[in-house]
Amino acid sequence: MKPNLWIIVPCYNEEKVLPITCDIFLNKITELENKELISKDSKILFIDDGSKDGTWEIIENLSKKDNHFIGISQSRNRGHQNAVLAGLMEAKEKCDITISIDCDGQDDVNAMEDMIKEYLEGAEIVYGVRSKRKTDTIFKRFTAKSFYRLLKIMGVDVVFNHADYRLVSSKVLKEFENFKEVNIFLRGMFPLVGFKSTSIYYERKERIAGKSKYPLSKMIGLALDGITSLSIRPIRIITTMGMLVALLGVIGIIWVLVTTLTGNSVIGWASTLCIILFVSGVQLISIGVIGEYVGKIYMEVKARPRYIISKKTYENK
Ligand code: UDP
Ligand code: MG
Repeated sequence: MKPNLWIIVPCYNEEKVLPITCDIFLNKITELENKELISKDSKILFIDDGSKDGTWEIIENLSKKDNHFIGISQSRNRGHQNAVLAGLMEAKEKCDITISIDCDGQDDVNAMEDMIKEYLEGAEIVYGVRSKRKTDTIFKRFTAKSFYRLLKIMGVDVVFNHADYRLVSSKVLKEFENFKEVNIFLRGMFPLVGFKSTSIYYERKERIAGKSKYPLSKMIGLALDGITSLSIRPIRIITTMGMLVALLGVIGIIWVLVTTLTGNSVIGWASTLCIILFVSGVQLISIGVIGEYVGKIYMEVKARPRYIISKKTYENK
């Protein structure tokens, strides 16, 4: 039997680009249906992430225009990751495969066919990987590269240059549901679920219209979330640093003893001050890192819902 595909599209203040990209998605899903790769009742699910512009009205109108289009709306803006999660959780019981994709036309829809073929050959997760970043600015390329490098150093296992353009089967999603954490970093979490996975490559294009909703501050936030949600390596680094500082302290004591014994025992205030400053600096960093994890524990213990859907363009069965 042909798999039922749901394309998951998060949208936040995208009234400029949605009217253009909706047709790209519709054409692609119709083409895939005609090629008999997917079943005829496949869907394009838009998740309005609490937009303040006319995004939801556009989604509602689309749902009236064509049966493929359906939409849900979050009660407020929760960020890209939570919007994708809301879509995936909505889709998991109703389809066989999902493909999550940004709504701005940057990810090449033509890669979907290869993704589905990989699924038909047995892969449960197919990562879309950007082969080139020609259209990105030098700044975006640099920050993105640093982002992946930092994640790797900090012990988070992610596919290099893979964002959130990805095929995931409902089988994986049903397991993924049991990852109950509130701070989510999807691209670092799916490798943890396991199952057979593979990658396909595509060229990242420019945004068709509208502005990026991912400024540097949000990207740093995402990297921090990724690291502190998935890895305890920062704590280990602090421990190693503590050991090194302690070792330096021992060497310092030997030096003080030697200077005292050789009679040159005038110790300047500058060196004392330096040591105090250095050690208190290290302590402050350590407290900061521990605080970061305590904060995470605090948030996780609350176990708040990770998304709340307020409206749908369709009735629940
Ligand atoms: N997005 C979202 N909620 C947000 C920010 C972004 O749902 O709070 C969506 C946005 O509409 C888009 C996708 O996430 O479909 C990626 O955002 P964007 O294109 O602005 O990021 P960039 O490609 O510049 O990294
Ligand atoms: Mg984009």
